[in-house]
Amino acid sequence: MNIIIVGIQGSGKGTQAALLREKFGWPHINMGNLLRDHINRHTELGETAQHYIEQGQLVPDNLVLKLVTAELDAATDGFVLDGFPRNLVQERYLLDNYTIDAVILLELDDETAVRRISARRHCSVCHADYNMLSNPPEKDGVCDSCGGEVVMRNDDNPDAIRVRLEKFHQKTRKVIELFKERGIAFEIDADQPLMVIHQQIIEHLDLA
Ligand code: AMP
Repeated sequence: MNIIIVGIQGSGKGTQAALLREKFGWPHINMGNLLRDHINRHTELGETAQHYIEQGQLVPDNLVLKLVTAELDAATDGFVLDGFPRNLVQERYLLDNYTIDAVILLELDDETAVRRISARRHCSVCHADYNMLSNPPEKDGVCDSCGGEVVMRNDDNPDAIRVRLEKFHQKTRKVIELFKERGIAFEIDADQPLMVIHQQIIEHLDLA
């Protein structure tokens, strides 16, 4: 199955995609992590992307399309895509070149999103996601999975968060409207316990 998870930052896209990967084995393609990986490896693409990410701006489409194409073409047995598409150019590219079986829309208000983002942490080594309110690591600052250091992301600061929410409403809302018009979007209230949301997703996919 080719699945897309769309939602505002903090809506739990990454967590839900990771649960689907664990249960069904589909690769989880996370655009933000792919970009952060390039930054950590100091590639040319990473050097360019870093500036945009730190300010909460979208990374230029030509870079993002190059990255996503390589991942999607390699995922011949299906994928869970998270963080892409974020604007209409990316959505058009995706719909013109790939078959999409389902789009999961995680709906969350801005205030709750900001509260969750501020509590968000991730493993600097394996990228496992944590939240100090709902899903903290067992030992403070240490990843449960790999023992790596659990840190706050550079772009989870108030200025960058504000810009990212603006970009979501300016650009990604239009993406969501188009998915809805096409009748392939399934809306879920993201302000529910994560396993309740997971169950709703697998029931919708008819895999329960
Ligand atoms: P995320 O981890 O999904 O919150 O993404 C972190 C940052 O990576 C975003 O704020 C953007 O700067 C960049 N980014 C992630 N996905 C995309 C995308 N599809 N298009 C452009 N920039 C992106």
